[in-house]
Amino acid sequence: MPKCEKCGENTSKGYDCEHTKFEEYCKECYTELHYYINEKENE
Ligand SMILES: [Zn+2]
Ligand SMILES: [Zn+2]
Repeated sequence: MPKCEKCGENTSKGYDCEHTKFEEYCKECYTELHYYINEKENE
């Protein structure tokens, strides 16, 4: 089972992309990360 690199929780499915430096994040952390990225882009 993958472990989220941000919060350390075990997650049934890991999500990664360039923003997580291709480390696996849980869905919550992954969503939160992109939420902040989108906020920045809208400034
Ligand atoms: Zn997490
Ligand atoms: Zn991303």
